[in-house]
Amino acid sequence: MLAYIRSTTARLAASYLAIIMAMSIGFSVVIYHISTHELGRQVPSRVIRLLTEPDYFNTYLQQRYDESRHALIAELILLNLVMLVAGAFISHVLARRTLRPIEAAMDAQTRFSADASHELRTPLTAIRTSNEVALRKPKLTLAQAKQVIGSNLAEVTRLERLAEGLLKLSRGNSISFKIEPVWLGEVANDAMNQVLAVAQAKSINIDDTVPKIQVSADRAAVVQAVTALLDNAIKYSDKGKTVYLSGQQKNGFGFLSIRDQGPGIKASHLPYIFERFYRADHSRSHQVADGYGLGLSIAKKTISQLGGDITAASRLGDGSTFTVKLPLAKTAN
Ligand code: ADP
Repeated sequence: MLAYIRSTTARLAASYLAIIMAMSIGFSVVIYHISTHELGRQVPSRVIRLLTEPDYFNTYLQQRYDESRHALIAELILLNLVMLVAGAFISHVLARRTLRPIEAAMDAQTRFSADASHELRTPLTAIRTSNEVALRKPKLTLAQAKQVIGSNLAEVTRLERLAEGLLKLSRGNSISFKIEPVWLGEVANDAMNQVLAVAQAKSINIDDTVPKIQVSADRAAVVQAVTALLDNAIKYSDKGKTVYLSGQQKNGFGFLSIRDQGPGIKASHLPYIFERFYRADHSRSHQVADGYGLGLSIAKKTISQLGGDITAASRLGDGSTFTVKLPLAKTAN
């Protein structure tokens, strides 16, 4: 109870209640004044003159006036007490409703900061440890120094990528898109060019059969999202495998699918892979893929903002298919 009294909800509810009661008491005062004014109106003298016992009549009227006034005060007090109880309940419900989305936003913010700090700590610890170890050595050869610098640089690169991802996520809502008709085939081409070097290094073949489909979107943003999906498909595939790019249109939407022959994703992980910082365990496939679990959440957020969606279908050991869905361009309908 004490905790509730100190809570933000209680403070906001108290403010609402104060407003409700101020209005209720204000109306009561007005009603009281109007009613007593009406009750106290003088009886016209020509009526008094007709009466046989005017004094008795006046006393009776005064008595009625006092009685009615007291009854009115009692009723108004009762009404205000009822308003106080009902108002407290309504205020609490309203305060909860007002605060719920604010609390959810604050929770998300806190979780985001906690996750980000946690992710930042790992490369920072690695940098500190390798530097401390190097410093403790009485003699550091040039080769050893180069190795420390090399590992530091690798961690700094990871940190840079993380910072970039975090920035993209936090900027998410304020990005302004340039919406125009975009060919999915061109998106696939641009994305393939971005990952060409990585694919070649792993001897991964990309099979592109995207047909002529035009969607309404921001080309650069879609290319970025598809690149992230293509990058994952290559990253999680074994050497020499093939990644398939295909497309179709249905119900006013264009679809671009990226299918790989990688390790697949466990059904228990699948619902969470689009969450920030979520990384499924791929120990079975011995993959030590580099990443922070931000790529999918950034891509999904972008595509959702463009009025589309990204979905994933996968079975462990059977590869994964990620599908980007975007509204068809008006000219394509
Ligand atoms: P990461 O940087 O870890 O790749 P993502 O957000 O891109 O972050 O992906 C989240 C997780 O989803 C990955 O850690 C991985 O477990 C899983 N995942 C994504 N794409 C694939 C894929 N093509 N095959 C298997 N698992 C994938």
